[in-house]
Amino acid sequence: MRLHPYIKHLLTGCRQLGVALWLAVQAVAAPVRRNLLFCLTMLAIHFICVWRQTQYEGEVWLHVEEVIQDLYVICLVLTLLPRRWRRVVRRVLYVAAFVLAGFEVFLTERLQMLYTPTALQLLSETNPKETSEFFLAYCHGPALWRTLALFVPLALLVRWLGKHGRRWVLKLKLHWLLPLLNVAVPVLLVTATLDTTEQRRRQWHFFTEESSMRTEKAKWETFYTPAWRLAWSWHMLRVADGELEVLRQNMRRISVDSCSARCPNIVLVIGESYNKYHSQLYGYRPKTTPHQLQMQREGSLVAFPHVVSCWNMTSNVFKHALSTHSLDQKGSWCRGVLFPALFRKAGYRVAFLTNQFKADRGQKGFDFNGSFFLNDPELDTLCFDHRNTRLYRYDRDFIREYENYRPAACNLIIFHLFGQHEKYSYRLGKEDIYFTTDSVRRRRLKRSQKQVVADYDNATRYNDDVIRRICDYFKDDDAILIYFADHGEEVLDFSNMEGRTPAEPPVPIVAYYEFGVPFEIWFSPKFKESHPDVVDKVKQARDRRFMTDDLPHLMMGLAGIHSKYYNPHRDLFHHDFDTTRQRLIKGLYDYDKLVKGTPFDVYAKYRREPETTDPVKKPNYKKAKWNTN
Ligand SMILES: [Zn+2]
Repeated sequence: MRLHPYIKHLLTGCRQLGVALWLAVQAVAAPVRRNLLFCLTMLAIHFICVWRQTQYEGEVWLHVEEVIQDLYVICLVLTLLPRRWRRVVRRVLYVAAFVLAGFEVFLTERLQMLYTPTALQLLSETNPKETSEFFLAYCHGPALWRTLALFVPLALLVRWLGKHGRRWVLKLKLHWLLPLLNVAVPVLLVTATLDTTEQRRRQWHFFTEESSMRTEKAKWETFYTPAWRLAWSWHMLRVADGELEVLRQNMRRISVDSCSARCPNIVLVIGESYNKYHSQLYGYRPKTTPHQLQMQREGSLVAFPHVVSCWNMTSNVFKHALSTHSLDQKGSWCRGVLFPALFRKAGYRVAFLTNQFKADRGQKGFDFNGSFFLNDPELDTLCFDHRNTRLYRYDRDFIREYENYRPAACNLIIFHLFGQHEKYSYRLGKEDIYFTTDSVRRRRLKRSQKQVVADYDNATRYNDDVIRRICDYFKDDDAILIYFADHGEEVLDFSNMEGRTPAEPPVPIVAYYEFGVPFEIWFSPKFKESHPDVVDKVKQARDRRFMTDDLPHLMMGLAGIHSKYYNPHRDLFHHDFDTTRQRLIKGLYDYDKLVKGTPFDVYAKYRREPETTDPVKKPNYKKAKWNTN
């Protein structure tokens, strides 16, 4: 049959286009084809790691797509290398992958840990003696054998396939696999690229971020292989080290102009995970804070209703509540100085008693609870005269550490409690249980949820007793005590949320419960007598809005410290206090704008009724509009 010349032309064109497409597909697949055994081995290692570390729970399949992407890039680089170099580099990569994955799986099997900044810090600071001790202490038993049983056979199989694989492919007539591979590689690559853009964006943000506040928020799932987790840990340590160095330099230069020591004994008590709406001082009905309520009725305690925390994460609160730098200022927290050092410079004796991290001068690097900068030997020396060296299961035993302290003429005593940290029932002994599921009158909650609320209320009541005991230590001194919590907590109040969420931006209910904190001032009888002016100023400031990142200015104001770091506009008790200040929680979200117009806008309610002395009323949650998360 004779074809029309036009159709002939068309068919030739189509054939040429097909050939060009096929060549392009082959070219895309070439890097994988040339390193097929390498790719398959890395995938096998990935599956072993995920199996041992997460038992295939969570977003495993998404991570396979990312691993495929990573492998393609590595194969492409290998293909571009000269032949001689390619073999050497590939061998190095094999060894590195087996060692990194094997060691991490061993850590998981033996110590239930992955590569994290803390783990990397520990490993990098270990000297040869400690390394040998580590191996003697840990590298035996079933965990080691299980790890070896997983990786040694795989390594032997890879070696055998490397030598004889090609022959067996020919023998088993498997060459039909090649065209399949040519098609599969481009298809997988395109799908993976489309699916993983968000994950890549998160990684990019993390590695270009230079502030520890932001880097700390990265989820570990973003780093899905041992190599990525090592990179993550290294970057976190580098950022923390950089901030520490800046802070050290600032702290070496601190100076104080004068100090009147108008309040000679200042006690700062930092609570933990305190949902203030579970305190009688803030309108809760069950008897969770009888002692504090009694003090308030006697006129020796003032509870501030409009105080919010700057973060809902302990370590970030510590940085900002201790540093003279505030979140609405430019730059990072390390641009300021830590206020306890100013107190020392001004002649106060400073004690830091914490039940969450003990003084460990060997630790230099990273920690999630704030100790990474407070345990730095130089900063520790500059800030504190006295530290506790052990931790206690219960706060009531911990506060007795104060009995080891020798007071001077002027003292700043900082207590950092375990407070109401999860798990709530662990915070007190059986003899201190007061609330049970039957005492929780919330019909919508299941029995197990009522138990959580009862546990939390018990912890709050126990904390009340701890505060009373701390006040007792100072009842005969000329002392003022400031109590606040690092952040709030959600305890199934009007949502099914328990604990805290890193979700951004925070929705009104999260801002209200997780960032609203109790803030209380207690005066000893002697203090009330000798400082009526301070007592008056405190009482007058009660209804002001305040965020805890300005705490250093309030502290310096109480001590009468004058220095270039003190700003009266940020001192809650000063008549020049700036009541219009933007309270940017997490440094980004205006708290007042966030809750404005929602049932959580308690400040608006107060402004309408300035004369009221009632405790803050609970919001009408039926009208609330929010997304629970
Ligand atoms: Zn905390």
